[in-house]
Amino acid sequence: MSAPLTGIGVSPGTVAGPVARMSPPPQLPPQTAIVEDSARELDTAKNALEAVGSDLDARAAAAGGEAADVLFAQAMMARDPGLVEKITERVAKGETAPHAVSGAFEEYRAVLANAGAYMAERVADLYDIRTRAVAKLLGLPMPGIPTPGHPFVLVAPNLAPADTATIDATQVLGIVTERGGPTSHTAILAKSLGLPAVVACPDAASLAEGEQVLLDGSAGTVTVSPSPEAVAEATGREERRKAALAASSGPGRTSDGRGVQLLLNIGGEGDLERAVAADAEGVGLFRTEFLFLDRTSAPTVDEQVAVYTRVFSAFRGRKVVVRTLDAGADKPLGFVTQPDEPNPALGIRGLRTSRRFPELLEDQLTAIARAAASGGTEVWVMAPMVSTPGEASAFAQMARIAGLPKAGVMVEVPAAALRASAVVAACEFLSLGTNDLAQYTFAADRMEGELADLLDPWQPALLDLVGMAASAGGAAGKPVGVCGEAASDPLLALVLVGLGVTSLSMAPVSVPDVRASLASHTFDECRMFASLARATADGRSARLAVKEAAGSS
Ligand code: PEP
Ligand code: MG
Repeated sequence: MSAPLTGIGVSPGTVAGPVARMSPPPQLPPQTAIVEDSARELDTAKNALEAVGSDLDARAAAAGGEAADVLFAQAMMARDPGLVEKITERVAKGETAPHAVSGAFEEYRAVLANAGAYMAERVADLYDIRTRAVAKLLGLPMPGIPTPGHPFVLVAPNLAPADTATIDATQVLGIVTERGGPTSHTAILAKSLGLPAVVACPDAASLAEGEQVLLDGSAGTVTVSPSPEAVAEATGREERRKAALAASSGPGRTSDGRGVQLLLNIGGEGDLERAVAADAEGVGLFRTEFLFLDRTSAPTVDEQVAVYTRVFSAFRGRKVVVRTLDAGADKPLGFVTQPDEPNPALGIRGLRTSRRFPELLEDQLTAIARAAASGGTEVWVMAPMVSTPGEASAFAQMARIAGLPKAGVMVEVPAAALRASAVVAACEFLSLGTNDLAQYTFAADRMEGELADLLDPWQPALLDLVGMAASAGGAAGKPVGVCGEAASDPLLALVLVGLGVTSLSMAPVSVPDVRASLASHTFDECRMFASLARATADGRSARLAVKEAAGSS
């Protein structure tokens, strides 16, 4: 057993299992060969499509439910006679099977994309079938999330939001990525699924298919070919950790009784079951983009009402903070985002989208208000990417008109933190989106794993901005929460509370660790940790200083 590979642990827990790697989409080689036997080439192409169809049938049978319908529909697309016709024409002109298949799918894609909303939504499915068929023809591994037929540790260069939708949490034991940082989509997804995960682990590139690994999502390590004793020791440790955490329950508070609301981040109805079961006071960040993604037009007010009503009734008696649509940059939306925007992270995103499409926000607020009217849930709304007091006030006004008096804004842009007193005066509460706040404070793309040190939420400059927002909220007697990934780090949670933050919102899997951490320190200790962290020069030293102090306090 050699020294473990190291990365950043972003989702707690320990698992052991075989590696299955995610393969990139296949690249077509240049068409150099001349096809001599076009009948044989056509058969090769048809066989590949049939194999993809059977594969999809088998996955559909195993999946059941709604997923099965989608997979069966995909299998039918792979066998579409129109497609075979186009392939036949291309092969007759001398194209090889991979080129003919790829070209025929491309023609089909263009037709579908122009054939109205419903058909255009099928384009992504078509792309998936194309890449599978081409991979088969080139003898390359299947692209996307692997399906080896047994539970596995997923190893990938990085995960994009589109990959994450297809992860089956009953098969994926844990996730290791070469790139990505603590605020990457991989981190957010792994936590929402409750899967242990390590990101920014460049040596994961050397992990071979089928190799046994032991993954520790708290320590951020991956041990290759662990001994049975090491696996048994880690499993025992994990069970003891879970038992210790299960012993603490109820509302979050420091050991001297200062209350800190523990809330949940949810990003879709798929997260609901796990979230409802969590011991937390409600939802601090309900990301609503899932309702708008993969569509060619906005969902209707009625469609939205139905989804919000399901979420609110699941949290009856608790609080739900709904974040209005955050389109753009890392969350592009086909029908909203400009494809040629030169600098999307600094462009028309978040609340700014409503400058161009005011009806999107009006409809969303109307739908939230209608769903909230069924009663029993404390519904708050907040806008993403707010920069000025004027924007905060305009949003709060719109929300009030819609019938939603508890309106706040996210602090994700340094300008909003610097002017937090005026911003909080214009609305009811603040919620710090530390993922974006780190990105904009350090001018470091949050998708860029190589800049993980700058994006580290322990960076003292970021903590200064959090402190400004929290003090402004405190002075105004209004709540200031953190809903970025920073809130789920049990040690950093102490610092955030010391800075004056009143609630912490995170994935359900992180709540027990954060609750236990708060319960073992007084508020004065938290304030001392905050001062210590802010007195350092970088994220690494801040973490070390607080770790040492918290260990000895
Ligand atoms: C954030 O930026 O911290 C945040 C919570 O929003 P998102 O990650 O959805 O951009
Ligand atoms: Mg954000």
